[in-house]
Amino acid sequence: MVTSRLSDSTLQHFTDVLQRRKAELLHQMGANDESLVQVRQSLGEGTNDDEHDPEGPTMSEEWSMLTGLQAEARSELRELDSALERIEARDYGLCAACGNPIGRPRLEARPYATLCIECARKAEAR
Ligand SMILES: [Zn+2]
Repeated sequence: MVTSRLSDSTLQHFTDVLQRRKAELLHQMGANDESLVQVRQSLGEGTNDDEHDPEGPTMSEEWSMLTGLQAEARSELRELDSALERIEARDYGLCAACGNPIGRPRLEARPYATLCIECARKAEAR
């Protein structure tokens, strides 16, 4: 069983980074939800798109943009949660494919990376 080579203070650092990002994300998702409710009401009331700023997005465009944002936020949230679970299990920071350390600079850039840079390149090349 490979154990993480990251120190407790490093793991703590990434816990903070991930928790902060999660709080941000949940806040954003809450705001998206509110906007979705408003758009749904406008659509339900049959608000005519003609009354909408012709330069701006229509309500249905707004709707698909918001649902797209929500889907992205949900999948990011899943990645965040699984990264936090890996920290708990102390296998955070190790490549899921080769088991080598992912490397701190890469984790700083992508705190929920599951592959080291080499495996990520290989995966992209596939
Ligand atoms: Zn790897």
